[in-house]
Amino acid sequence: RYKKKWATHFKEKTHCDRALEYFDVFYKPLYGKLWPSIRISLLSNHKYCALVNNFSFVENTTKFLEKLGCHDIIQRAKTTEPLLHEDSVERSKISDISESIVENTVGSDDSDVEDHNRTNLTAFLPVKKVYSSKQLQKKEELEQSVYMPQNIALKVVPCSISALPEHLKVYCFKRGNTGTFPSPKIHKTGLLDYFLLDAASILPVIALDLQCKETVLDLCAAPGGKTLAISQTLLIKDIVCNDISYSRLSRLKNMLRFYIGDFENNFSLEFSKNNGCHFNEPFFDKVLVDVPCNTDRHVLLSEDNNLFKPGRIDERVSLPEQQRNLLVSGIKSCRPGGSVVYSTCTLSFAQNDGVIQSAYDYLMQNSNIDIVVEDLQPLFSCFRDTFSFYRGTRFGELVLPSLSSNFGPMYICKIKRLS
Ligand code: SAM
Repeated sequence: RYKKKWATHFKEKTHCDRALEYFDVFYKPLYGKLWPSIRISLLSNHKYCALVNNFSFVENTTKFLEKLGCHDIIQRAKTTEPLLHEDSVERSKISDISESIVENTVGSDDSDVEDHNRTNLTAFLPVKKVYSSKQLQKKEELEQSVYMPQNIALKVVPCSISALPEHLKVYCFKRGNTGTFPSPKIHKTGLLDYFLLDAASILPVIALDLQCKETVLDLCAAPGGKTLAISQTLLIKDIVCNDISYSRLSRLKNMLRFYIGDFENNFSLEFSKNNGCHFNEPFFDKVLVDVPCNTDRHVLLSEDNNLFKPGRIDERVSLPEQQRNLLVSGIKSCRPGGSVVYSTCTLSFAQNDGVIQSAYDYLMQNSNIDIVVEDLQPLFSCFRDTFSFYRGTRFGELVLPSLSSNFGPMYICKIKRLS
């Protein structure tokens, strides 16, 4: 026995330790045999790609990146045959996942378990049934009770995207190559030559399926990696970049100045500092809803601004509800016939598929808006050389971090507004 405060070897739990413990309890049952590999990848160096700046001197940049041994993943995807569902591993049943969560959480007296149940389950699962899994007779029964409101199912339809953005250039080192990029340089144009980001961040932009002269709302835009990628498609007419944080929005503006320079010459760019939950006019062809989330990688590696700080439990617990509200606003801001892409950088089931179902339920009960999910699997299968995808999702696609391709996590779901 020792007195904690006098013990010289006693190590206080860090916020990162807390995050890792939490993930071990809740991601392990979800991801099963995959978890050890995901875990070590999350704790290892993150892999980046170079997004070529089309407003700078493109030829020089692409030659330089090719000399480094990188290739353009968009070009590679264009020449890769898509896998149809029959060729790919069938998605695992939600019922298996939820049952394993139940079995692995019931009976534990860890306060984090309680916290998780508040965060990840209560909003989406009928609590009574979760705590009495033995009473559930069939797996289908659990599946329905978890995700399906009475007789109303959110449809998943084939994806309408037929082509990848022509001008987007995204260079990566090969799978298994952990090479790093030199810092971007300012070219004679006065603009930086490329931007470094997680290559999985390109997937939500691809899912937007931007067409010439479209109007886009980026609801949670800062610090702006995806805004920049949207601008690099050279397709849009107007983009509204919104973020609730003034300082993060300033970072976004500064970054765009270094990459796009004089905005007015290229397309119309508007900044707005509002709560994204208050947008509701259907003005936009496309809406990106890249929500605040657990940020799994960040909370494991940095104590700064860490969501697992004990004082931030309420904030963390309220994330799925906040995400649902943001997604509902994004859908309301999209014109009928347009599309919304929802994305996160977490493996949390409740913050991914759970939010999609919850937003659908909300819209069914409180509006005349009808939506369907578009199945991104065949399209994204063209990126299988670059990313590892999880096959256990219901609505969106999820990039799993792996040691040979340490991108993500990134969840992407494409929603089409019908009415
Ligand atoms: N899309 C960005 C990118 O690619 O760089 C990353 C977005 S980050 C995951 C989430 C952003 O949402 C943060 O910048 C945060 O300030 C913003 N945010 C949080 N709550 C918000 C709200 N209610 N309305 C609008 N933005 C919000």
